[in-house]
Amino acid sequence: MTDYVLPPPPVASVAIAGESARFPVRRIFCVGRNYAAHAREMGKDPDREPPFFFTKPADAIVDDGAAIPYPPETANLHHEIELVVAIGAGGADIAPARALDHVWGYGAGVDLTRRDLQNAAKDLGRPWDWGKAFDRSAPCGPLRRARDIGHPSSGRIWLAVNGAVRQEGDLAELIWPVADVIAIASRSMELKPGDLIFTGTPAGVGALARGDRVEGAIQGVGGISFEIA
Ligand code: MN
Repeated sequence: MTDYVLPPPPVASVAIAGESARFPVRRIFCVGRNYAAHAREMGKDPDREPPFFFTKPADAIVDDGAAIPYPPETANLHHEIELVVAIGAGGADIAPARALDHVWGYGAGVDLTRRDLQNAAKDLGRPWDWGKAFDRSAPCGPLRRARDIGHPSSGRIWLAVNGAVRQEGDLAELIWPVADVIAIASRSMELKPGDLIFTGTPAGVGALARGDRVEGAIQGVGGISFEIA
């Protein structure tokens, strides 16, 4: 047994629908601008440029139904609903045709973003971490196993705030589908079991305020809900 000078941190994890066991989270990778309409609303050309990635810490994950405190140092907290891919089998240089074999399951997550800090970082050529990788920035609904639901390539994805739909799209609109995202990510990073990939958000991102109730879902995958406390 290794001795540690401090108690080791708990394993970050996310719930699994209908099971008491939890999915251990190793890393969180996120794809930027993977729906054309969202790329346009962010002022970018949605041409099929290679996907780019950023990360959040594993313990940014928050279970469904949480009350998430409004984060510090921002006046523009945005919601981004996304299909979350849970990696069950790791690998490097994964071929697109084999990529889905590495998927354990899927969930609906929200890439919470301090948009003002992200935009300031963009303007200054600085890293995005303070805008994207803050505490409790990755609420994620219960995962479902690919062996039960298959590998969704189409289906409505939406998010509502206080009952009003803000974001709406379809998984079929992903510029880079899940298999391509896995293949491309695995060229730069050896994927490991427990990694999550947030695959990008459809158009309609917007600001959240204290007291807002956020609810979203992906057809055939599941839902996510939380409140900004
Ligand atoms: Mn995002």
